[in-house]
Amino acid sequence: MAVIKALEENQSTFTEWRHKIHSNPETAFEEIDTGNFVAEKLESFGIEVHRGLAKTAVIGTLEGKEKSSQSIGLRADMDALDLDELNTFEHKSQVDGKMHACGHDGHTTMLLAAAKYLSETRNFKGKVHFYFQPAEENFGGANVMIKEGLFDKFPVDMVFGMHNWPGANAKVFHVKPGALLAANARFEIKIQGKGAHAAMPNQGKDSILMSSNLIMALQSVASRVIAPLDSVVVSVTQVHGGSAWNVLPDEVIIRGSLRALTNEVKEKAFAAIREITNGICSAYGGTAIVDIVSGYPVTFNDEVATKVALKAAQKTIGENKVITKFASTMGSEDFSFMLQEVPGCYVLLGNDKSESTDSGTSPCMLHNPYYDFNDELIPVGASYFVNLVENGLD
Ligand SMILES: [Zn+2]
Ligand SMILES: [Zn+2]
Repeated sequence: MAVIKALEENQSTFTEWRHKIHSNPETAFEEIDTGNFVAEKLESFGIEVHRGLAKTAVIGTLEGKEKSSQSIGLRADMDALDLDELNTFEHKSQVDGKMHACGHDGHTTMLLAAAKYLSETRNFKGKVHFYFQPAEENFGGANVMIKEGLFDKFPVDMVFGMHNWPGANAKVFHVKPGALLAANARFEIKIQGKGAHAAMPNQGKDSILMSSNLIMALQSVASRVIAPLDSVVVSVTQVHGGSAWNVLPDEVIIRGSLRALTNEVKEKAFAAIREITNGICSAYGGTAIVDIVSGYPVTFNDEVATKVALKAAQKTIGENKVITKFASTMGSEDFSFMLQEVPGCYVLLGNDKSESTDSGTSPCMLHNPYYDFNDELIPVGASYFVNLVENGLD
């Protein structure tokens, strides 16, 4: 039970790769340099490379020494975020307004490191497909790959992925079956009142008043509509309305985000948002158009695949460093689309480190301008991927 020695010994090389990717962050479907870097590395390991899916995806295919029909998919995301990096270290972002603040540079490096090791040893049966995907943030790159035939062209029996997790001890795996991350949706509510002079509100239908009542009332979705032990978040994140001190506007637009851990709760919350909106607006003489768009599904780990993942994590780091009882989170992840198609498991790998930020706050959460991936995780995550493949699925 240990991190693979050859991976540990190569940590400085892998760290260089990670820093190179970090310094050149690319966002949704524009991961051209990153994709080229990944493809060049895979080719240099003698791995068959396929490109063209979802614009910038790179897929590597490798066969083990032992013939078998078994096939495993390992996935890493390559995209960065639209965010200005505030770190000052040498490998900081060289691109204004873009930053690897979610650690996808680390995910890509861990999978590349695993691919290198597996290509040298090929001590496994069947086939492994390395899925390097674009656009995890916001644009569902995984879903685009699936729609363009990912699992028809590169079929697998099971698929695995992982996310680094600040706030959890470094190198500690979190593995459990069922709902791990939430489904998300975004909503926009156009409240239509009737504009009026601020001094004569009785001549209008006040959309500002409707919106303020509505924002408060939407909190009752979590507290009064959804059962207390079920999880839901309804967050209003934007309010737009009015342009003058002395005019009541015709229209107010509010927008927000919804999260839930089951589809049933999500659908119930959708219905409640519509009902509450219509009720509040009509009470004040207005109307509303509610537009709700579902985003990523629930990230739901398959029972059997989770056992496979658990075994690999325990082999990598020891049983005492694998946590199986922990709270799900209301964040979302587009690996969920892959899990809808193929059984699989998504795990979290603790990313804490004591000196992670220039801001003096540690640990630094994902999507923070001071975030940086912890390079000590690279051999750990790569060993986990290798163990998944070498252990096999039976
Ligand atoms: Zn993210
Ligand atoms: Zn992420």
